[in-house]
Amino acid sequence: MKNGHKIYDAIIVGGGHNGLVAASYLAKAGKQVLLLESHEELGGATTSVRPFPDYDARLSRYSYLVSLLPDQIVTDLGLHFRTLSRAVSSYTPYHREGRDDGLLIATSWDEQTASSFRRLTGTDRESRAWQEFYGEIAELAKRLAPSMLKPLQSASKLKSELGLPEIWHNLMDVPIGEVIRDRFSDDLVRGVVLTDALIGTFVSANDIQANRCFLYHLIGNGTGQWRVPQGGMGALVKELLRVATSNGVEIKRRSKVTALESGPAGVRVTTESGDAYVARDLLFAAAPQHLARLRGRQVANSLEGSQLKINMLLTRLPRLKSGIPPELAFGGTFHVNENYSQLEDAYTRAVGGSIPQPLPLEIYCHTLTDPSILSGNLIERGFHTLTLFGLHTPAKLFDKDPQQVKAVAQQLAIDSLNQYLLDPIESVLAPCSDGSLAMEVKSPLDLEADIALPRGNIFHADLDFPFLNKDVEETDQQLWGGETDDPHIYLAGAGARRGGGVSGIAGHNAAMALLAKG
Ligand SMILES: Cc1cc2nc3c(=O)[nH]c(=O)nc-3n(C[C@H](O)[C@H](O)[C@H](O)COP(=O)(O)OP(=O)(O)OC[C@H]3O[C@@H](n4cnc5c(N)ncnc54)[C@H](O)[C@@H]3O)c2cc1C
Repeated sequence: MKNGHKIYDAIIVGGGHNGLVAASYLAKAGKQVLLLESHEELGGATTSVRPFPDYDARLSRYSYLVSLLPDQIVTDLGLHFRTLSRAVSSYTPYHREGRDDGLLIATSWDEQTASSFRRLTGTDRESRAWQEFYGEIAELAKRLAPSMLKPLQSASKLKSELGLPEIWHNLMDVPIGEVIRDRFSDDLVRGVVLTDALIGTFVSANDIQANRCFLYHLIGNGTGQWRVPQGGMGALVKELLRVATSNGVEIKRRSKVTALESGPAGVRVTTESGDAYVARDLLFAAAPQHLARLRGRQVANSLEGSQLKINMLLTRLPRLKSGIPPELAFGGTFHVNENYSQLEDAYTRAVGGSIPQPLPLEIYCHTLTDPSILSGNLIERGFHTLTLFGLHTPAKLFDKDPQQVKAVAQQLAIDSLNQYLLDPIESVLAPCSDGSLAMEVKSPLDLEADIALPRGNIFHADLDFPFLNKDVEETDQQLWGGETDDPHIYLAGAGARRGGGVSGIAGHNAAMALLAKG
């Protein structure tokens, strides 16, 4: 490259957690790395913010739980970042035969969980089915997880290496909805299982895309356990930034890449402000749709984002109609209107152009596991945070009148939640000095505007299975999942194969692909 520019070994576009992971691995290996981020703030979908200025509470604004981040990345990079286990896996309130109760599932199976299943279904059949099903998946997770940080394999090779053909068949070949209907008989239990297939994925239970979402929700780090990021999601970004800069990564904020050229010798990018940078290779850690546009290529079709994210600060936890202590109910994932049939109905309704009613959603309370995101004063006063994730609210429903539809969706979320609360949620939201209540709502369109997620897709693009599509012949070239048709350009963000979620896997793998070139 000419023009007297410094030539970097690699330019990373996008300072989300994957971009920072990629940059850190490369810099640790001695590479000259420049990272360009559009915004002043790094982290993309992994930021913590103080959304309510009256209160010293730093909430994970977008992503909120961690499962997929391999311990190996934390160790390799020397990150001082911990995740904490939740004692409760989930609670699903229900009203049946005139009675308010709930299905409480502990993180480690116990008698309380068994009796909760018995009260719901009248027998032990469903709890046996649960243990068998998740026991099988746990075995697959243990064997599959280590492959995520290695070069990709063909489906047949990976399948034979894992040695669990029936479980493989159930998770990769048969639509997950069919598997769930076959293995479980209670609509509520089926729904609790199904939610993992639908988070951030706007499809029916019978679409194989749901299997991909399901798989990534259950194999994280070999356990599939969803854990609480200590200090909030922003704590991960803070650590990644420390490691990246201490290893010499140059970071330029407010540097949105608006042009990209590539030639035999490398790449040249230009930012919105007109600054140009050159490098041998480019790791693109923002959405692949943006890369396609920059390269003048056709943008591949992808599902649109379909979730409503609501962040709340409470003066205290609300009591529940079922009488369960709120500390237990909100200690894990709290499912509302997520029966299997409700989820399918909600999908059909949203396809038909309406925000689902009742709205399926799930909630979790960060501060029950980790109060450190609140000031001492708020902890003393008994404040808590709640994170609400509403399903099947696709971007297209918001296009016509974004603010009005958001207000409708917000009200439907409140109504859904209040069905099961003794204290309506509005009565426990912290009051703000401008007269509002401490509730922040993000639609898929907001996610696109705020952090450039295409149509609000939380995984950037459709998830892929963690193996090569076709049985490719063994070649000398190992593929890591971020390769493009340009030998100097790699995908390093959630849109790479095996990316998606807070994992750092895409960043790691793109860095490995580049280092393998020498
Ligand atoms: C509401 C919500 C809840 C979620 N919940 C969870 C969860 O609990 N657990 C979980 O594992 N996952 C969750 N996810 C998904 C997960 O957060 C993302 O998949 C992941 O964080 C993506 O990380 P990334 O680094 O690949 O990309 P991003 O975080 O999207 O970062 C990309 C960065 O690139 C920057 N950028 C974009 N274009 C340019 C450009 N042209 N030039 C320079 N910079 C650019 C952006 O500003 C951004 O900072 C959630 C996501 C959302 C939105």
